[in-house]
Amino acid sequence: MSHIETISVQGGYQPKNGEPRQVPIIQSTTFKYQSSEQMARLFDLSEAGYFYTRLQNPTNDQAAAKICEMEGGVAAMLTSSGQAASFFALFNICSAGDHIVASSAIYGGTYNLVSVTMRRMGIGCTFVHPDADIDEINAAFCSKTRAVFAESLANPAMVVLDFEKWANAAHDHGVPLIVDNTFPTPVNCRPFEFGVDIVTHSTTKYMDGHATCVGGAIVDSGNFDWEVNPDMFRGLTSPDESYHGVVYTRDFGKGAYITKAVVQLMRDLGSTPSPMNSFLLNTHLESLPLRMKKHCENAQAVAEYLSKSDKITWVNYPGLQSNKYYSLAQKYMPNGTCGVISFGIKGGRETAAKFMDSLKLCSIATHVADAKTCVLHPAGTTHRQMTDDQLKEAGVGADLIRLSCGIENAHDIIGDIEQALKPV
Ligand code: PLP
Repeated sequence: MSHIETISVQGGYQPKNGEPRQVPIIQSTTFKYQSSEQMARLFDLSEAGYFYTRLQNPTNDQAAAKICEMEGGVAAMLTSSGQAASFFALFNICSAGDHIVASSAIYGGTYNLVSVTMRRMGIGCTFVHPDADIDEINAAFCSKTRAVFAESLANPAMVVLDFEKWANAAHDHGVPLIVDNTFPTPVNCRPFEFGVDIVTHSTTKYMDGHATCVGGAIVDSGNFDWEVNPDMFRGLTSPDESYHGVVYTRDFGKGAYITKAVVQLMRDLGSTPSPMNSFLLNTHLESLPLRMKKHCENAQAVAEYLSKSDKITWVNYPGLQSNKYYSLAQKYMPNGTCGVISFGIKGGRETAAKFMDSLKLCSIATHVADAKTCVLHPAGTTHRQMTDDQLKEAGVGADLIRLSCGIENAHDIIGDIEQALKPV
């Protein structure tokens, strides 16, 4: 199975003769065994098998296996949210006293996770703009740096990551590059082909695609060799006493990173998806390539329409030739980026609110990346307590509107925008 359309439909689960055609929903917290000796072996990791859904569940694992194949990785796991995926991906290799280098253009929730919550756990972070030159990126590292984190297509700034520059910087300092690939999805971008070591997802977005299930995923490329600098990654390369001295790299080879995250972090922190959600995710993944194509076609048409309107001051979409990230997008995401556009409306805050209130088909929602077109005016909602000057500093102007193009007909989306622009 080499093409993404085929993997999206059939990956992760190949039923045998007489077995269900569709992935079964194993909605069970626990699994029955006949001997306590065998159960003990499962707890010691000396035998593989399901015993409690907080750690592993077949429905969850089948959806994870499909995402793993889609990304071209060696091992993957699901989490109950994208936030949990980002946290687990970093915390699996960082502990108190360690440090992370992160792109400053990342989702606000991840920025908060790293800059506030993980800092409280003793893990430091230096943020660098993704467009920074290599000297500036190199200067952010210190002897305690254990990971680099960035987004392939940043939410909401729509910055396209220069993967090769960031992968080289991470590898020159002996650490992996972890990339959140939520916005382009593996349909439009395969980060492992450009040197990325670990990929994370908020599956809540395009992967689920219908605004039904919050979820996350982590995929390991298997390319990062933790044993080159074993002292930097002792959690993977030295005995885990909570499993009678298991050494993840020695005992699980290329599966070391994901095995540790499952058997240690899931065991201790939870954040397990429900099998029902994984079933829905798995089903929705079947249409992901079709949906991504339509999201991108619609966004391209809307971005072109907006850039010709005299009521719009600027449009940010990497599919426009005039966009700063057009050439990077062509290099790393040649089939399209995603359906999210941001633009500025003449007249600022009040005009933006009037425009939004006049929309009929496009709904006002704190979401992106599902089948229905939606809009958000950050200055009037998520960032409403900020003054215009503070907004400017945060890179979210009072005039900024974020539009997530769904998979409706592009003429209808444009028609709705057109009628809502008339009174402003
Ligand atoms: N990563 C990106 C790029 C996101 O846009 C989001 C949420 O908007 C997250 C991670 C967090 O995901 P979740 O809301 O599923 O926890």
